[in-house]
Amino acid sequence: MHVDMTMPYCSSLRQTVIDAAVQQNLPVHNGACYVSTEGPRFETAAEIKAYAMLGGDLVGMTGVPEAVLAREAEICYVSVSMVTNFAAGISPTPLTHAEVVDTMKQNAANIRALLHQTIVTAVPAEDCACQHALREFGGFRL
Ligand SMILES: [Zn+2]
Repeated sequence: MHVDMTMPYCSSLRQTVIDAAVQQNLPVHNGACYVSTEGPRFETAAEIKAYAMLGGDLVGMTGVPEAVLAREAEICYVSVSMVTNFAAGISPTPLTHAEVVDTMKQNAANIRALLHQTIVTAVPAEDCACQHALREFGGFRL
């Protein structure tokens, strides 16, 4: 089957996460284009330049195939991206794994607060389109 990935994330759950970020006074950017690359490695400066020319705002190595698998399982799904560094060719210094780990440690409390607020305020969508992504195939079955 070919599942529709026009909008890869659940719009309902996405709004819940955005609202939770606002309630926690956390910076949130709504509407970026995420480019998922195959890692684990940092991209080259040429790759980053090409992705930017194509309209990419963020580049990372996660999110695929998770978003596709969630849609195929008819699960409402969103992704929260933690920006850990500027990309190759943009960063004024060479990229290091330590930079990524340090930033993740600094943001751990924010992520916990965001997830907690999201879980506390999330209301399961009763009839979200995500839950009917495979309608023409009879739905998801285990
Ligand atoms: Zn949904």
